[in-house]
Amino acid sequence: MARQWKQRFSPAGLHLFDRSTGLNILLDEVPVPAALYSRAPRQISIALTNRCDLTCAHCYAPKSRDELDYDVVTCWLSELDGNGALGVGFGGGEPTLYRNFVDLCQYTVRATRLSVSFTTHGHHIDEALADRLRGGVHFIRVSMDGIGATYEAIRRRSFRELLARLKFIRSICRFGINVVVNERTLPDLDKAAAVAADIGACEFLLLPQVPVRDQPGLGDRTLQKLRHWVEAYSGPLKLCINEASADSFSTCDPLSKERGLRAYAHIDASGVLKPDSYQATGVPILKCGVLRALDQLTHNLAEKDT
Ligand code: SF4
Repeated sequence: MARQWKQRFSPAGLHLFDRSTGLNILLDEVPVPAALYSRAPRQISIALTNRCDLTCAHCYAPKSRDELDYDVVTCWLSELDGNGALGVGFGGGEPTLYRNFVDLCQYTVRATRLSVSFTTHGHHIDEALADRLRGGVHFIRVSMDGIGATYEAIRRRSFRELLARLKFIRSICRFGINVVVNERTLPDLDKAAAVAADIGACEFLLLPQVPVRDQPGLGDRTLQKLRHWVEAYSGPLKLCINEASADSFSTCDPLSKERGLRAYAHIDASGVLKPDSYQATGVPILKCGVLRALDQLTHNLAEKDT
């Protein structure tokens, strides 16, 4: 099948992306005039709903019933797609609880050139849902903080059941494992990475815990142990870390000239555009006005910095 390259223009150069394989090619020797920069962030995450049937202590999603309107989301997606975004990541809450979730994924693949991913606890994905999602999603991120008793203490769901769900998930598309790293999960990293590799994951995303409600963020000593773990890891998985925590790690970022809102933005379940999902405030988006909200948010952040 012929590749379907999507082009993106940025200070980093000309970026070609094939969503079916996840292959990126950056022509960084191509100087792109600022007037031609793609206006949308490279990647956008959208919290479709705040609903979730789990109660993880580290959860930062607001405990509200907010949920986005399907038609509004599709309108935003076409605006983002037309302005150079490469991918959308659906989240929540738990995105598989969103009423039109499968339709939305299928629509996005059919009507846009965006790569579709979503983050899930995985416990609603059975054979029937896997069948309906196949072809409508390019990558799935599954939350798995530790293994066995560690996982069960945090998620209050059976670890054995999660492993069964992962077999359905891997039949849909490529997938990765997300781990919230804290004092409790750090000792499980070796085993969790081994389980992830055994079951066919291709990525292991480390998310150092951020402070939320009565839960503290990751302490300096644990962060240092995490750095040592990363340096010593020699397994087959690609290790990733969220941008907010990346500074003290040795990372490979070919798109370092494309930072902040050029690289990433988040839309919460009440339709507010934010620099990332941990922020409490942002700019409300009006119908089909993601770029207008983005300009306003860029302006607000610049003012804050001066
Ligand atoms: S599964 Fe995710 S959204 Fe649900 S409570 Fe846990 S962290 Fe929050």
